[in-house]
Amino acid sequence: MKHILLLATGGTIASRPTAAGGLAPAITSQELLSFLPEAADFCHVEAVQLYNLDSTSIGPEQWQGIEAAIRKNYDRYDGFVITHGTDTMAYTAAALSYMIQQSPKPVVLTGSQKSIYNRDTDARNNLARALLYACHDEAWGVQIVFDNKVILGTRARKTRTKSFNAFSSIDYPETAIFRDKRLIPFLPNPDPDARVRFYDRLDPSVFVLRLVPGMQADCIPLLAGHYHALVLESFGVGGLPGGDNGPMFAAVRDWCAAGGLAVFTTQVPHEGSDLAVYEVGRAAKALPGVVEARDMTPEAVVAKLMWALGQSSSRDETERLFLTPIQRDIL
Ligand code: ASP
Repeated sequence: MKHILLLATGGTIASRPTAAGGLAPAITSQELLSFLPEAADFCHVEAVQLYNLDSTSIGPEQWQGIEAAIRKNYDRYDGFVITHGTDTMAYTAAALSYMIQQSPKPVVLTGSQKSIYNRDTDARNNLARALLYACHDEAWGVQIVFDNKVILGTRARKTRTKSFNAFSSIDYPETAIFRDKRLIPFLPNPDPDARVRFYDRLDPSVFVLRLVPGMQADCIPLLAGHYHALVLESFGVGGLPGGDNGPMFAAVRDWCAAGGLAVFTTQVPHEGSDLAVYEVGRAAKALPGVVEARDMTPEAVVAKLMWALGQSSSRDETERLFLTPIQRDIL
């Protein structure tokens, strides 16, 4: 029987109503397991309560805590299941994809839209499937298991706030699906003989600016000195209002001249950016210090920048790391 380490971090799956009327995490990792006695038939699970947070409050510090717990226990277990709130699960999945690379052992995130004690909950199904996946011989790498789908950590997005099918795999096939309790794998581990690599350094000084029509450029200089990377969520395949004549272009040029990294991405959910297509984007693309996120998800862009900035203080090296495909984040 496989040995699985369950790391509980909170989220709706572990929430109960508070006296004030909202939901907040309260159920412990052991209690979570007690809702799933059938797990004992197919695996041996040990549970650790790492955090008990709404995932709105989970960020780089907790990603480092999760990475450290997995690194410390990596040789003792066959797989890892992390219970987590759905709101920032895609960020954590992306971050762990950069912090725990080429893992032949599965590192599985799951959660639910309804608490585990609710009668109409999706929690038991998701937790059971996450454990089943973590025990499967063909399981690998950082994945989200949710609503019978297995989604690669770098390609996942929360695309529904309420329905049970809350997560989608963006522009990439699912790694596997469940039909009832049977796992149907689609994508095998591309590198089964690789050795796992752990990274614990992150630099969270990343700012995301969503462009809106009519936006002024005066906010950009205010960010200099506080952030190392500025993500510009542009329109369509990408560009700046006014092209290379506009104040936005001058602000981005000054940002890069001062040593900052500017990363262009798009607000469009599918297919990514291509700054070379339109004149409003071409001049920005040519600036030293400007890179494109191409078809990375917004969550992967942020997590990868924090990881890449954490590995090197040289902008060229950060750029190189950012543009190197990892776990299918760039296709
Ligand atoms: N606010 C919750 C969280 O992300 C939502 C959920 O888990 O579904 O922790």
